[in-house]
Amino acid sequence: MENNNGVKRYQMYIGGQFIDPHDDSYIESVNPASGELWALIPKGEKEDVDRAFQAARQCFESDEWRGISPTQRGKLLRKLAQAIADQAEHLARMETQDNGKLYREMLAQMKIIPAWYEYFAGLADKVEGSVIPLDRQSVFNYTLREPLGVIACITPWNSPLLLATWKMAPALAAGNTIVLKPSEFTSASSLEFAKIFDEVGFPPGTLNVVTGYGHTVGDLISKHPMASKVAFTGGTETGRKVAMNAASHLASVTLELGGKSPNIVFADADLDAAEAGVIAGIFAASGQTCIAGSRLFVESSIADRFITRLANRAKEIRLGDPMQPDTQMGPAATPGQLKKIEEYVDIAKNEGARVLVGGERPSHPELANGLYYYPTILTDVNNSMRICQEEVFGPVLSVIPFDSEEEVVKMANDTEFGLGAGIWTNDLKRSHRMARVLEAGTVWINTYRASAPNSPFGGYKNSGIGRESGLEAIYDFMQTKSVWVELSDEIRDPFSIRT
Ligand code: NAD
Repeated sequence: MENNNGVKRYQMYIGGQFIDPHDDSYIESVNPASGELWALIPKGEKEDVDRAFQAARQCFESDEWRGISPTQRGKLLRKLAQAIADQAEHLARMETQDNGKLYREMLAQMKIIPAWYEYFAGLADKVEGSVIPLDRQSVFNYTLREPLGVIACITPWNSPLLLATWKMAPALAAGNTIVLKPSEFTSASSLEFAKIFDEVGFPPGTLNVVTGYGHTVGDLISKHPMASKVAFTGGTETGRKVAMNAASHLASVTLELGGKSPNIVFADADLDAAEAGVIAGIFAASGQTCIAGSRLFVESSIADRFITRLANRAKEIRLGDPMQPDTQMGPAATPGQLKKIEEYVDIAKNEGARVLVGGERPSHPELANGLYYYPTILTDVNNSMRICQEEVFGPVLSVIPFDSEEEVVKMANDTEFGLGAGIWTNDLKRSHRMARVLEAGTVWINTYRASAPNSPFGGYKNSGIGRESGLEAIYDFMQTKSVWVELSDEIRDPFSIRT
């Protein structure tokens, strides 16, 4: 990697080597808080993708990788976890510089990433086959769990390394090799991660990082015949394309897609906790999280009071340089994202929504070069408006009052998405009743935005297919082989089925 006038020029990581892109062209990476160019990211092409898959497949078939025991794989993953922990501050700085999320948020992410590698390191040598109790005693039938091959991992810009980790940790623990393509807007941290990975002692080709645009490198990766599975996080429309690409060569998919998650506040809730949860749900990370609680349903009897509290709190949120410890909200990650936020607020206004708070960019000169947008609360909305049905991926909250449990469940579920849902109530029975009927992969009761390596995460409906994290995740990167062994000397009729 070269450093020219403060601008870093990165290389891709293929077959254990850091290399320049095939046609020597680059994508500019701009800091969204300052508007400054800070890195040049290799613009990969077909030749780079092919090279990466060849390296990954060669490694997958090699004795260096296939020959090592699951326990040894676990040890390597633990070593990787430690190496990431040692570099947490450095990686967090890279992420903040690239996507504008708060340094303290990214540092917290870097500090929990090792937990995923440790969890799956622990699972690596606990994957067992089984002995099948067949009717015919003379046959010994057992199963083996085997890795799939090369896993194509595609990640978005909002939490690049965390979301890559959710794929790579179980995939590596299961014995696969990887071709990773991060978002073109935030590739630096994955290439920095590659440097850390390179020193841990995995055989060359275990991980390959190819950077470039989604419509070229992403497209090629998801339809590459050597990809045994595509593990994707991103928008729902892109997810559809990726699934169709994977289907062309019958690769399996895990898709973690968009959301329009409801956060539901009942009158009996602890309103201090609910307020903090609603704020965390939509304004943390400037609303640029898949699980953003972008639709707030609040029980009518407390609606005015609760909305006033929220509005006051939202007005106090400190926008600014995401590297500073007292900043509470950073910029949008890309100019395109900022434009999308502005457009959606306009659409909402045209549909009759009222801007209670925010609804514009700050005019403060200190923020002039960054992609900032005020925390925004919209009232006078109904659930069928576009602002309540389409993902904004920004700090925009729509508020809808409700009168009954039945009514709010109906509205909460009335969306194509089903990623997360929050319930705020002190009524124990109601909270569990609601958890059962809400159509979402994760339901948080009196908390929001919590995740852990051992808890499954994923979407219902158009929010995705499959789950990441948790015990099951490792099996999603494996296939089952059934082995039949005849133990008797009996010669059987060749023209009738064998059981
Ligand atoms: P995106 O869909 O635009 O891009 C995601 C990745 O796909 C990027 O690496 C991109 O380069 C690549 N890509 C783009 N076009 C492609 C194509 N035709 N073929 C293959 N790959 C292609 O998403 P984004 O804007 O980077 O991220 C925001 C989206 O991600 C939001 O919708 C958000 O909800 C979703 N997301 C979901 C989760 C989750 O766990 N469910 C987590 C974070 C973000």
